[in-house]
Amino acid sequence: MSKPVPPRAPGRSDPMGTSSTRAGALTSVPGVRATNSNTRVTTATLQRPASALPAGRPASNLGLNSERLRAAMVSRLREQGITDERVLNAIQAVPRHTFVDEALASRAYEDAALPIGHSQTISQPWVVARMLSAAFESRTPTRVLEVGAGCGYQAAVMAQIVREVHAIERIRGLYDLARENLRQLKMTTRVRLVYGDGMIGLPNSAPFDAIVVAAAGLSIPQALLTQLAPHGRLIAPEGGAQQRLVLIERTGAQSWSRVELEAVRFVPLRAGIQS
Ligand code: SAH
Repeated sequence: MSKPVPPRAPGRSDPMGTSSTRAGALTSVPGVRATNSNTRVTTATLQRPASALPAGRPASNLGLNSERLRAAMVSRLREQGITDERVLNAIQAVPRHTFVDEALASRAYEDAALPIGHSQTISQPWVVARMLSAAFESRTPTRVLEVGAGCGYQAAVMAQIVREVHAIERIRGLYDLARENLRQLKMTTRVRLVYGDGMIGLPNSAPFDAIVVAAAGLSIPQALLTQLAPHGRLIAPEGGAQQRLVLIERTGAQSWSRVELEAVRFVPLRAGIQS
């Protein structure tokens, strides 16, 4: 049997050097509460950027502008320390506005989590970029698993970089939404979407070069650690009221290293499925 989850590292690594623990972010975004946003917790998060589009412009015009808006978003991600060109190019390539409700489409290129229904949120772009940069650093993963597909956005971003993306979602309505979003972008062959409980992973498709968990548990499920390939990396938010991104690397058959990154706030990781 495998060893239990490795103990917490004694010190915290904060390579971006900007962690803070101030709460209350995003309270001004309708439908996004402090408890349900997949976002980084910083003082900067409190200063919500002005809407990416002039007020009143219909969302249906967004398609025309979205490439430019995405380029601006990618520039902001660069300024915030994201350097992996693969990740930046992938974010440039995926039309995030098509993953949110039309009423929110004009906000899709703000660096904010947004509601996607069922009390869940699409992750903040910086968080997606940070997680993928850390999980894919110095390697070219070919098979990855996402736990918590939500509307399918992060899976679509990963699929720009990785040949085989498996993404699992426990809420039927969101699984259907992700499937429809990915179908519209003709990405259903590159992303294999599964309706199920991601806490047990996908043992039949393992091992994975990387596992990205988009919801926070009190601890990282052991089943996921054992589904990592040698030197594979898992990144996940961990905690309850206080959460941090945790980066785990499989260093041997029965050993894993662990480092803690930024303070974040994610929706909870829950067991079982919801129909
Ligand atoms: N990856 C999404 C974020 C979705 S929010 C994006 O691209 O923005 C996190 C998602 O994790 C929610 O949809 C929630 O239903 C899902 N989730 C929580 N626990 C889960 C579990 N055990 N298995 C699969 N999905 C889970």
